[in-house]
Amino acid sequence: MFKDPVHHSVYVQDATIWKLINTPEFQRLRRIRQLGTTYLTFHGAEHSRFSHSLGVYEITRKIIDQFERNRYKDWPQEEKLVSLCASLLHDVGHGPFSHAIEHVFQTDHEKWTCDIITGDTSIHRVLREVGEDFPGKVADVIRKTYGKPIVVSLVSSQMDADRMDYLLRDAYFTGVNYGSFDLDRILRVLRPYQGAIVVKESGMHAVEAYLMARYQMYWQVYFHPVTRSSDILLRQIFRRAGELYREGYRFGFLLPPLRQLFEGSLTVEGYLSLDDALVQAAFGQWIHEEDRLLSDLCRRFQNRRLYKYITLESLDETFLDRLRKEWVEIGLHPEYHLEMDTPVDLPYDLYKPGTEPDVKEKPPILLLDEKERVSEISARSEIIRSIAGLHQGKYYIYYPEEELRARASRLKPETRELLNLQ
Ligand code: ZN
Repeated sequence: MFKDPVHHSVYVQDATIWKLINTPEFQRLRRIRQLGTTYLTFHGAEHSRFSHSLGVYEITRKIIDQFERNRYKDWPQEEKLVSLCASLLHDVGHGPFSHAIEHVFQTDHEKWTCDIITGDTSIHRVLREVGEDFPGKVADVIRKTYGKPIVVSLVSSQMDADRMDYLLRDAYFTGVNYGSFDLDRILRVLRPYQGAIVVKESGMHAVEAYLMARYQMYWQVYFHPVTRSSDILLRQIFRRAGELYREGYRFGFLLPPLRQLFEGSLTVEGYLSLDDALVQAAFGQWIHEEDRLLSDLCRRFQNRRLYKYITLESLDETFLDRLRKEWVEIGLHPEYHLEMDTPVDLPYDLYKPGTEPDVKEKPPILLLDEKERVSEISARSEIIRSIAGLHQGKYYIYYPEEELRARASRLKPETRELLNLQ
């Protein structure tokens, strides 16, 4: 039994789960922050992918327990262990600050997760003890290609164990007051029904609270503009370092897995040696690099000197081009000292009622009434209709304020006004 601040306790009942937790690959998740650079905005957000993964396992275990207790015939009992393993391992392929790295180097944590499960690893050996084809089954659940969609939807749907855990956990560790909902109530009203997981009609208000929590976390935490600013800095550091590597620049400090990352030749072993600490040690050293841009970006990241931002109602390429030209004229870098951002680039999303092909990727939330009729929840709930989808289409541009302020006299008056540099 593990103590857990969100679920109180996490119970491990199978030897396989216990052995998986004790593999080096799973223990690595202790060294990867769940929310990347969010700790620079909400200082409590130091929680790890390890705690989140245990939480997702625990929620899945509780859902299946409830299905078994009620003897629901639509739950295929033989799928318990594969569901628990997939829940526990669903994030095992996350790298340090993974979304930023994925963005720059086009890697994909889901692919790494499957490579770790099926490759030459301790996790693979533990799963093989269950059966020859068992690692492949777990990987199929994560790839969403598993033959029984109900198993996939436990780990990956609009109201899956993954989201339910991260919303509660991220709310707890960031210290925000929204983001909470009645998990126990939701777990009690879930039912397996004709190959899907549905919600009993009486649970509609609990689901409304869950979707409201998701809505608020999206805007207040996941899309916090300051966090986006630190993400931009991180992406720029990797982009600059990758660029320098391709140009043949001689780094004063470069560890083998980072070299492999830049070359695009990362092995599973190399990937598993990457964690937040290794990346931050590199940033600390790169402050002393000869390349001024890389050095400045790393110093900014380490000392939290983030880019400032302004919000715009609309943004077009002509406007950005004009700014980039002006940046060049005053001696700033048009690719690094100006970035734009919108909420659509986010790994988190808001609830969408579901239209093809989204339905296959993320099944919507279905209500089951007493006459055994199924309906999509936003058709029944005014609240959900009003918060579904993306309404606030804002744009943000980010820039180093000190540099611009120092050159303010050479900027066009309208740019000075736009950036509040009067
Ligand atoms: Zn997750």
